Amino acid sequence: RGMQRYTTATVLEEPITPPVQVNYTKLLINGQFVDSASGKTFPTLDPRTGEVIAHVAEGDVEDVNRAVSAARKAFDEGPWPKMSAYERSRIILRFADLVEKHMQELAQLETWDNGKPYEQALTAELPLFVRLFHYYAGWADKIHGLTVPADGPHHVQVLHEPIGVAGQIIPWNFPLLMYAWKVGPALACGNTIVLKSAEQTPLTALYVSKLFHEAGLPDGVLNVVSGYGPTAGAALASHMDIDKLAFTGSTDTGKVVLELAAKSNLKPVTLELGGKSPFIVFEDADIDRAVELAHFALFFNQGQCCCAGSRTFVHERVYDEFVEKAKARAARRTVGDPFKKGIEQGPQIDSDQFDKVLRYIRSGIDGNAKLECGGERVGSKGFYIQPTVFSNVEDNMLIAQDEIFGPVQSILKFKDVDEVIKRANATRYGLAAGVFTKNIDIANTVSRGLRAGTVWVNCFDVFDAAIPFGGYKMSGIGREKGIYSLKNYLQVKAVISPLTNPAWL
Ligand code: NAD
Repeated sequence: RGMQRYTTATVLEEPITPPVQVNYTKLLINGQFVDSASGKTFPTLDPRTGEVIAHVAEGDVEDVNRAVSAARKAFDEGPWPKMSAYERSRIILRFADLVEKHMQELAQLETWDNGKPYEQALTAELPLFVRLFHYYAGWADKIHGLTVPADGPHHVQVLHEPIGVAGQIIPWNFPLLMYAWKVGPALACGNTIVLKSAEQTPLTALYVSKLFHEAGLPDGVLNVVSGYGPTAGAALASHMDIDKLAFTGSTDTGKVVLELAAKSNLKPVTLELGGKSPFIVFEDADIDRAVELAHFALFFNQGQCCCAGSRTFVHERVYDEFVEKAKARAARRTVGDPFKKGIEQGPQIDSDQFDKVLRYIRSGIDGNAKLECGGERVGSKGFYIQPTVFSNVEDNMLIAQDEIFGPVQSILKFKDVDEVIKRANATRYGLAAGVFTKNIDIANTVSRGLRAGTVWVNCFDVFDAAIPFGGYKMSGIGREKGIYSLKNYLQVKAVISPLTNPAWL
């Protein structure tokens, strides 16, 4: 019955024509839009149809070399690292304000390239993007070193210097937000950047970087090389003249870039990787709210969130009620053209992800999890998948172990606090978690017992600029956002000089 209630009718056979144009498709090197050295381009596709949106210049080793040279020169010769921090802050603020003025076009472009609902791009991703840059503009002139005491008559300054040229590699699921998490702190600290966007979603990074130059960013400070991972991405990770690498993407690729960094110049690497985050509902929780938030935690952004609550643990006493309600909620989810008003779920990003998610659904069915609803593609073109719910999921099933990165909710049953902490932690990942209970002792015990970088208690996906984000275990190394992101982009230098005849030490 759940499957029959599906609103496949909400998928438009004729996709809405996006009300925005693609103006920037070249590489951005040293403040100029240029073709790739090879002259090659690659297509970026519309996930609603699989058709080509635009052909984008395809960066490779030689383009990365050019971009790194430009970033090096802009770092070594200035003016960016040498200008007053206040001036840097003003440029970042001007940029954030410009983005705010262009929010609609940017959200449209993001939706077109990525497939996420336009309303979500406009009301969630873009405002967070602007907020992040306002936040980091605020940091630019508040970053400073220390003086520390010495045992002898010495004056000791600890300088916090920009680290140099940062290489940044970002994924396709939140193209703008991931840009903000990387570019914001690096620029606030006075660094220069070569950024590689994801090959599935190159368009918005080029657009906003153009706005950054309009806001007064000097040439060469921020270079954007679109292209593929094993070519442009690997060239960045292994470059001898890049001082720091920041990567967001899958755990497998994270291992590759860490190795490339180690084998080249030992550049420090921060990694934001995958997850299999538990969402734990205790028997005393407000069940309707927990159902709604568990649904949001998993299905938001077509299930393509690194921190998706992809293992829904529910206490045995409320399990059946929860499953019924979760199924009804998923069956009500509106799937369709992401430009259409009221649509909650658009297509998956591309055919690879689409096939991968359907394979996981098949493995859940074959492994005897109970398919409560969904399980099929929606429509006949593009990469739409029905919101899918499995109950009776066991810990050892593939759907409870692997990151599916799609609209597939797995509901597991538990009995008590110690057991659920142990099971929640029994994964190679440790990115995030949700805990639903009104009992403050349980909330405290569980949030301290979970080995995850973020624990949301009676909420989920709260992403303020100042809150650090990152993973335990194989979910990553280091933290982004907040004060913690700054140290990724700073070197620490101790300068010691003798004090002659000081009045005090
Ligand atoms: P991916 O790792 O294949 O790609 C991410 C980026 O790395 C892309 O820009 C890609 O071009 C680049 N890349 C690929 N191979 C490379 C190589 N050999 N050398 C250098 N760069 C390379 O990831 P994906 O499958 O496209 O994205 C989905 C994954 O990203 C999911 O597993 C998800 O969990 C993860 N993710 C994590 C976070 C987080 O914050 N922790 C955020 C978003 C996505």
